[in-house]
Amino acid sequence: ELILGIESSCDETGVALVRTREAPGQVPELLAHALHSQIEMHQAYGGVVPELASRDHIRRVLPLTDAVLREAGVALDAVDVVAYTRGPGLAGALLVGAGVASAMAAALDRPTLGVHHLEGHLLSPFLSADPPQFPFVALLVSGGHTQLMRVDGVGRYALLGETIDDAAGEAFDKSAKLLGLGYPGGPALSRLAGEGDARAFKLPRPLLHSGDLDFSFAGLKTAVLTQAQRLGQALPERRADLAASTQAAIVEVLVKKTLAALAATGLQRVVVAGGVGANRLLREQLDAACAQRGVRVHYPELHLCTDNGAMIAMAAAMRLQGGLEQPRRDYAFDVKPRWSLEEISASIP
Ligand code: ATP
Ligand code: MG
Ligand code: FE
Repeated sequence: ELILGIESSCDETGVALVRTREAPGQVPELLAHALHSQIEMHQAYGGVVPELASRDHIRRVLPLTDAVLREAGVALDAVDVVAYTRGPGLAGALLVGAGVASAMAAALDRPTLGVHHLEGHLLSPFLSADPPQFPFVALLVSGGHTQLMRVDGVGRYALLGETIDDAAGEAFDKSAKLLGLGYPGGPALSRLAGEGDARAFKLPRPLLHSGDLDFSFAGLKTAVLTQAQRLGQALPERRADLAASTQAAIVEVLVKKTLAALAATGLQRVVVAGGVGANRLLREQLDAACAQRGVRVHYPELHLCTDNGAMIAMAAAMRLQGGLEQPRRDYAFDVKPRWSLEEISASIP
């Protein structure tokens, strides 16, 4: 079956075409994908403006769909299922993808399938050349979420721990903003950190020794603000040191908690997903720590860490192949701006 996937939950419009395979264990095949990022448009405002995001998704989604079909050499009426991101995300932005997907499916007389955005992130490493095998510990680190999960199969997700306040990506973005690095600051902060000394400032590692698998990053942002204010006029010449110290604090907590999740579950495999998974220091430190313990770590390809359509089409295809979905033909679409991944987890016997 050919699955068209549409992502529009935030500030990226993504479209992709994936083909399911006959054998249930085989990973579906990505035929083509296309992406438009609105980052430049929102940069002037220092963050995502929801109304502008929705309007831009409307402008981009059909041209991107055309580009994907052309690249794959597939006609629109060969598409068997139209998948879209149903949530979580910005309501207006989600409605664009859901509405366009439903209209397209109705016109083609094909079913639709609403996909959970975080399941898309979680399964995005299956788009790489060396896909993981179940079960694994997943570290989901995105702009809105920071969670550790036990993943036993498609649709079998058990939450082990999560952030009680800010997400890791948010900690990167908010600290970057305090350092005057623009939006989204994660990549910029990480670049600047490369020129700094990570031991220059003592910053808190919240909940590092809490004994559970939860995270907290709000206090870190406050500590960065305090240091920046203390530096005053001297901030510009110490910015790289402060960036490096901030990144080191976030990464240390993420790595240590992931190791604790491995110990708690006894699993030997880690999957990292979400935008912060693109962070180089996180990859280096997690790889080093896991190599010592004989644990394999899988990442999405760098360009598929942040939002994209490929992960949505892939998640839809894996759910269909696993027999977890009855695609809908009623076209009465709805979206779920707030939606936890546990709600879609099949009960584990
Ligand atoms: P969610 O998926 O939780 O709804 P989102 O879709 O906005 O949130 P993603 O697109 O997965 O999140 O990731 C975006 C986040 O990743 C931003 O916070 C961004 O700063 C961060 N990020 C991207 N690249 C890097 C990097 N190299 N280092 C650190 N953070 C990064
Ligand atoms: Mg984004
Ligand atoms: Fe995302």
